[in-house]
Amino acid sequence: MKLIEVDSVKKSFQVGSSTKDALKPTSFAVEEGEFIAIIGPSGSGKSTLLTIIGGLQQPDEGEVRINEQPFSSKSEKERAALRFQEIGFILQDSNLVPFLTVEKQLQLVNKVEKSSMDQSRKEDLLAGLGIDELKDKYPEDLSGGERQRAAIARALYHEPSVILADEPTASLDTEKAFEVVEILARETKENNNATIMVTHDTRILEYCDRVYVMNDGVLEEKKTN
Ligand code: ADP
Ligand code: MG
Repeated sequence: MKLIEVDSVKKSFQVGSSTKDALKPTSFAVEEGEFIAIIGPSGSGKSTLLTIIGGLQQPDEGEVRINEQPFSSKSEKERAALRFQEIGFILQDSNLVPFLTVEKQLQLVNKVEKSSMDQSRKEDLLAGLGIDELKDKYPEDLSGGERQRAAIARALYHEPSVILADEPTASLDTEKAFEVVEILARETKENNNATIMVTHDTRILEYCDRVYVMNDGVLEEKKTN
């Protein structure tokens, strides 16, 4: 089943008197259990595509379907609800709340959801990510790799069907970068998610099922043979 469908999505920005085509008409799909990478130079449109898939901005034309539900054409409120149910975002700088412990970062998601904290889900996640012993620590007491793992735990906690990671390893050394990508690949397979990771880091592409290259707003699948 296709969890992500991008159908002729296009986005331009007005810069002064000229128009910048950040994303030319783009179509592709990600099946459940697939881990996809998007590479390409800075400014080529990768984040524009990812934020449109996540419903953070709307395309000028085209439609994104998440779990077979039209997404882009919905109202801001409906997009927010669907985003919360279906999508986990992981960004370059973990985006953790400084005054909350690792454990409470997950609870934050839970508060929004207004249900009780799922203790076993939380424990399984933190243990699987190797940060169960850090659950009472604050972000400032964690290394970059640990922070990023906490951010992954938070993104995965509500069991999204779609995971969108924008340069999740950019601030990590090689060893930690491999660890983080391994975790994303494993979670994708275990939970049958659809995961898209934007990266500059070609060393980690071996973990991905397919690789796309973005150049000047044009997305092309990279053939491997
Ligand atoms: P990447 O993530 O590949 O580095 P982006 O998607 O962030 O690239 O940006 C693609 C192009 O669109 C760049 O030229 C960028 O300057 C432009 N762009 C992105 N967002 C905006 C915006 N809100 N306003 C104007 N231009 C933008
Ligand atoms: Mg970007």
